[in-house]
Amino acid sequence: MVVGAGPAGLYATFYAGFRGLRVVVIDSLTELGGQVSTLFPEKAIFDVAGFPAIVGRDLISRLQEQAASAGAVYLLGRTAIGLTDRGERGLLITLDDGAVIAAGAVLVSAGVGGFQPRQLPAAAPWLGRGMEYFVQDAEVYRDLDVVITGGGDSAVDWALHVEPIARSVTLVHRRSRFRAHESSIDRLLRSSVQVLTNAQVSQVLGVEWIDSVEISEASGGSHRRPAQALVCALGFVADLGPLAGWGMEIANRRILVDSTMRTSLERVFAVGDVSDYRGKVRLISVGFGEAAIAVNHIAALLRADAEVSPGHSSDRPAPVTAG
Ligand SMILES: Cc1cc2nc3c(=O)[nH]c(=O)nc-3n(C[C@H](O)[C@H](O)[C@H](O)COP(=O)(O)OP(=O)(O)OC[C@H]3O[C@@H](n4cnc5c(N)ncnc54)[C@H](O)[C@@H]3O)c2cc1C
Repeated sequence: MVVGAGPAGLYATFYAGFRGLRVVVIDSLTELGGQVSTLFPEKAIFDVAGFPAIVGRDLISRLQEQAASAGAVYLLGRTAIGLTDRGERGLLITLDDGAVIAAGAVLVSAGVGGFQPRQLPAAAPWLGRGMEYFVQDAEVYRDLDVVITGGGDSAVDWALHVEPIARSVTLVHRRSRFRAHESSIDRLLRSSVQVLTNAQVSQVLGVEWIDSVEISEASGGSHRRPAQALVCALGFVADLGPLAGWGMEIANRRILVDSTMRTSLERVFAVGDVSDYRGKVRLISVGFGEAAIAVNHIAALLRADAEVSPGHSSDRPAPVTAG
């Protein structure tokens, strides 16, 4: 079983199929792709091997296409909450809807755990009525007055991203300095985005849908500004949640693994952002490598006739993919 369908989990799914294993994939979110789909689907990624540049959404659909050959069962919108270790008889994993699934091994690719957006109290009641926590599809903002709150990479990138198609973009940050990449801040300051620092959205107004926001400045003044869309990009709070109670050794909210990606539990492996070891680097490309290591060791654990080394994929017939 794979817990977490971010990039590491999707690649692990492909790899498990490649090693002839049957796979069930669980994710709390209703769509595949983890942080990439949720937080930066439209950003270009430049450090994935083989792709000089690839947009987040496209990377996930390529991974999904590659994983199709595994014929995995996807249980989306469900959270893995409990684990019972039955020794030689394998593991039982309990989901939040009460389902219990038996598995020979579990690969945890849970990223930063379940993540919840940081709330802006004045805006929370407007979720789905003009307020969102993520920019999924920039087209939605065409010809609208858009207000974005936040001072990190997501807020700055999204402001730049919707600027060419929105009627106006205002970026509101409660501090004086942004925490975003320097080159993005340079672009921001050269763009038509109106940047308001030392300020915050104190009130959201409208009837069915947002029509304006009240912006309060630290200096004491306030003004109203038209807004049919508000994006609260204040970051997210990550929580390992139920996984923390599974009995794996954990430090600093990460699951400790050995060089085979095995946790302190015999049949549970962890890869991607959620795992930790000396020298760990949290990148998509690293998660892919870890997934291959873990699945090859899982194959050897589950099947007496399987070796750790998989041989070369290029020696095999082409896998059958969906579509
Ligand atoms: C704005 C931004 C830009 C980035 N840019 C880059 C970049 O350019 N290059 C790069 O290499 N990396 C980048 N990263 C980092 C990259 O996104 C992560 O390293 C990568 O997503 C980690 O993949 P993962 O599969 O380990 O976990 P995630 O992508 O976090 O996926 C984990 C999944 O597990 C699920 N989950 C968690 N707990 C449970 C549970 N109990 N039950 C069921 N499901 C669960 C979550 O819902 C989630 O879908 C960026 C990150 C951010 C935020």
